[in-house]
Amino acid sequence: MKEMIKYGKKILKTLNDSGYEAYFVGGFVRDEILNIESNDIDIATSAWPSQVESLFENTAATGKKYGTITVFMNDYAYEVTTFRFDKSYKNYRQPESVDFSKKLEDDLIRRDFTINALAKDIEGQTIDLFNGMEDIKQRQIKAIDDPNKRFKEDALRILRAIRFVGKLNFHIEKNTFDAMKKDSHLLSKIPTERIIKELDLILKQPYKEQIYHLFNDLHLGDVFSDLDRAIKKLNLTDYPISLEQFFALGLYPDKNLSPDEWRFSKSQMSRIETIKELMNILLKQRITSIHLYNYSKDLMLAANDLLVKFFDYEDQEDKIINLDRHLKIRSFKDLKITGHDILPLVKDEKNVGKIIETLIEDVLLGKVENRKEDLHSFASRLAEDLNEEN
Ligand code: ATP
Ligand code: MG
Repeated sequence: MKEMIKYGKKILKTLNDSGYEAYFVGGFVRDEILNIESNDIDIATSAWPSQVESLFENTAATGKKYGTITVFMNDYAYEVTTFRFDKSYKNYRQPESVDFSKKLEDDLIRRDFTINALAKDIEGQTIDLFNGMEDIKQRQIKAIDDPNKRFKEDALRILRAIRFVGKLNFHIEKNTFDAMKKDSHLLSKIPTERIIKELDLILKQPYKEQIYHLFNDLHLGDVFSDLDRAIKKLNLTDYPISLEQFFALGLYPDKNLSPDEWRFSKSQMSRIETIKELMNILLKQRITSIHLYNYSKDLMLAANDLLVKFFDYEDQEDKIINLDRHLKIRSFKDLKITGHDILPLVKDEKNVGKIIETLIEDVLLGKVENRKEDLHSFASRLAEDLNEEN
């Protein structure tokens, strides 16, 4: 971190030496005051993006349209963003365009919470226009300006407040909290990609109990009906769960995700559906190696975890891990016999697939060894039966 700050200061100096203002801003300044490690450093400057590009050797135009140039220094990446004020909030979403500004104040006033609106110059002087220092001391999250107005501009800020509670264990200042309650329905207007990303971040924060309590208190189950069951179950617990488990718990046992509503990636979508399916399987069937062959161990453990924590179901973790550890094959390719070897044994080539499927199951259940001769004689017997049927 020290190194990262050192090179960050070098960036500030280069900008200052060329006549531009430049500051550390946002989460980094907040976390430094709280003595928390930051994973990244954001810099705000009066220099235009193209001016930033020309001052540093190694840059990437990661968000040039919005004023952001990533500057690389000694393997560290810094987001250097031109002062800007947001304009034209449409439909309670982030602005479509931004205007660049020469004034730090413009840049700080558009930020969400007072604790996120501190800036620090190269001398270590903190610029605190909205009493952010005091709110850090009071351990409170407070919107800048009128909270209702700010949540109407961008309702995602309601979830961001929950994220910071989960990260810092701060409380939410009363007016801000009242506005969050009043405006939570506006979250339904936010594109679900943004909601999904933010929920993922929230669930990774350490103060789970506080997070789950807020989900309930703000009635987020009314806004996101697919999550209602999960939110009710989570209340007053502090169990860590993943984003996928959160949705699976919301849908279990009989709801399905609507792909038009929730814009998950295909793989996320399938993991959610599979966890839900596996909860049903674990509940109703005795699991065998065949399940471990068909499903991933991790998803099975994720489903087991939900059943144990939220439905007082018997813990099958050891069994799942054991079955997986001793799995004889993980794919049909691991079979020591191929379709090619089986083809001469059958009258109807459609039966090759059937035989392979049976062999897979028998190997998994230990009925036959995964050795070529053993599989071959097993296959011959199966083929004879099938040939007679035809
Ligand atoms: P973390 O340590 O969790 O990354 P952070 O404060 O750096 O926290 P980011 O989401 O990385 O949070 O955002 C960086 C900064 O940008 C915030 O501190 C805040 O000042 C500003 N910001 C981000 N999103 C918004 C928003 N939707 N509305 C207003 N300001 C925002
Ligand atoms: Mg950040």
